Amino acid sequence: MMRNFDSDCIFCKIAQGEIPSEIVYQDEKVTAFKDLSPKAPVHVLIIPNGHYSDLNDCGEEDAEWMGQVLLTAARIAREQGIGESGYRVIVNAGPDAGQTVFHLHYHLLGGKPMAFTV
Ligand code: AMP
Ligand code: ZN
Repeated sequence: MMRNFDSDCIFCKIAQGEIPSEIVYQDEKVTAFKDLSPKAPVHVLIIPNGHYSDLNDCGEEDAEWMGQVLLTAARIAREQGIGESGYRVIVNAGPDAGQTVFHLHYHLLGGKPMAFTV
């Protein structure tokens, strides 16, 4: 069961359509929209519609929609024309990762070679 939204959260407001964003995909579980300050030619954020602050906030009961997020990332990558050239899906969690928005989000990045490898 997906959680409810948090009325103080900017990404909840985007999922609810309460503040504008360039949405590229939405269903009952997830929303995908263009990052406001793109770090690559394609930079889309994929979020659960319910409020989860980060990966630490998720449990076994969330495994199904979390899997759907990754399948959504792959589909959007194909739609945005980077399915074959390549892309990266990144989740920042906590201070060392530089997380700035505390609603779980998956960055989909592509359209140029990545600056670093892991
Ligand atoms: P993170 O550092 O992983 O927490 O990433 C937060 C991301 O959210 C950054 O890449 C921001 O550019 C992006 N962002 C913040 N506010 C908005 C917004 N209103 N619409 C779209 N992207 C946003
Ligand atoms: Zn939220």
